[in-house]
Amino acid sequence: MSLLLNPHVKDIVHQFDYTDTDVNNAVKEFLRQMAEGLERDGTSLSQIPTYVTAVPNGTEKGLYMAVDLGGTNFRVCSIKLNGDGSFYLTSSKVEIPKELMVAKTAQELFAFLARQIALFLEKHHTDRFEAHVRRRMTASSPLGFRDESVFRMGFTFSFPVRQVGVNRGTLIRWTKGFDIPDAVGKDVCALLQAEIDKLHLPVKITALVNDTVGTLMARSYSAPGKHGAVLGAIFGTGTNGAYVEQLSKVKKPLVGDYDASTGLMVINTEWGSFDNELSVLPNTPWDIALDKLTPNPGLQMYEKRVSGMFLGEVMRQVLLDILKNPNIPLFKDVDSRSNDWTSVTEVRETSPIFQPWGIDTKSLSVAAGDNMPPLPLLRGELESLDINSPSFEDAQVFKAIAEAIVRRAARLSAVAIAAIVLQTGKLTDPDLADEPVDIGVDGSLVEHYPCFTDMIYEALRAVDGIGEEGAKRIRIGIAKDGSGVGAALIALVAGRME
Ligand code: ADP
Repeated sequence: MSLLLNPHVKDIVHQFDYTDTDVNNAVKEFLRQMAEGLERDGTSLSQIPTYVTAVPNGTEKGLYMAVDLGGTNFRVCSIKLNGDGSFYLTSSKVEIPKELMVAKTAQELFAFLARQIALFLEKHHTDRFEAHVRRRMTASSPLGFRDESVFRMGFTFSFPVRQVGVNRGTLIRWTKGFDIPDAVGKDVCALLQAEIDKLHLPVKITALVNDTVGTLMARSYSAPGKHGAVLGAIFGTGTNGAYVEQLSKVKKPLVGDYDASTGLMVINTEWGSFDNELSVLPNTPWDIALDKLTPNPGLQMYEKRVSGMFLGEVMRQVLLDILKNPNIPLFKDVDSRSNDWTSVTEVRETSPIFQPWGIDTKSLSVAAGDNMPPLPLLRGELESLDINSPSFEDAQVFKAIAEAIVRRAARLSAVAIAAIVLQTGKLTDPDLADEPVDIGVDGSLVEHYPCFTDMIYEALRAVDGIGEEGAKRIRIGIAKDGSGVGAALIALVAGRME
């Protein structure tokens, strides 16, 4: 019997089904958890107010700076916004020295970051830099610079932060290999600004930026509708989204200063932790096995079913189970289906299939992208996973399972998108009847996995309150470089409040 028709394989594929009814139930639950998060702290969806109260419309102009401390690298850029939805970006990147990631004092790390900003200015903005240095003791601002010649800067800081104002936020904890206890509880913008000031640089941090908010802003600038984008979403290593909410619906106390005149507030949902209780999320044996491998079992349960860091591992868990199952002859040299009589099909002991996190989600993209029998690209990919001589049928089974896992991820992604579109009321507002509802997305999964967005649309069409007509108005587009242009735009809109 063909391996693909093997009932055990079919059963595995079906366990990743997420039906239209499942999607609709999850959307209702997502809306409930959104409302709860707007009311109080400590809920499933954190719904963090960002103190950003406006989105751009594409006409913004000027020269801004942005820096991004994300993990391995520190990126410095300047962005010239041309006022027509286009921009010119100059950037440089430096690896963070390992010893600074665990420095004794925060000052050591932030002094290094400030020096990189100085080097960038010296290299790319020499005229302005030198003029500033000459002028700095004579002019009128506290730092000695004329106000109009100060670079406004957005600071993208991808660690957990309690934001208390548009350019203020205290570090909750370090992640990703950083450990400088001295910085925890301090305002990271103030720490960086202090070191910038010590070097007398003409730079003022006007915004502390979350990458999802950057994505929302970047999309609003480059694809302007009447009202900009409603949602910025990341589907990369992790997943998260930030959307534009009515200020009146934010019931929990807002501690920082903000401009209330727009009646809006951008909310960072932190949706990776949606439904940690698993009331509507699927939970296969392979999801359970994956969760046990993580340092935070029971948390980020939505993210663990959706984002790039995890989908390859779900696949690996399924493969491990199959390899133990005598009823499924996958990757075994069975004469009836072997198409290469000179070599034996087998998984070598050294295969990354036997290493936790050994399969990258990229391999799932290769599987989905190879549609040409006998699947030569995918079989090459399987060879690179230390599988000797995989057959066409082996590759077909791998492909069927990979596609089931990512299809479920895309349908779950549609849950968050649908709930936020419904929450904003844009589809039913008669004043916006002909307007698209714009959504900016970023991240390797949505950008590189074949047809990820198409699968999101398929699920959106099935959502009550959206349907065929609503889905046609939803415009999902890639918004690249949220931490560059997006951060610059936040620095700009935040600067208007000074
Ligand atoms: P980050 O989210 O860290 O900024 P990316 O958006 O590049 O970075 O996402 C990286 C994640 O995307 C990794 O988990 C990786 O497994 C996954 N990934 C990278 N390339 C692809 C691809 N071609 N197809 C699907 N997933 C990919």
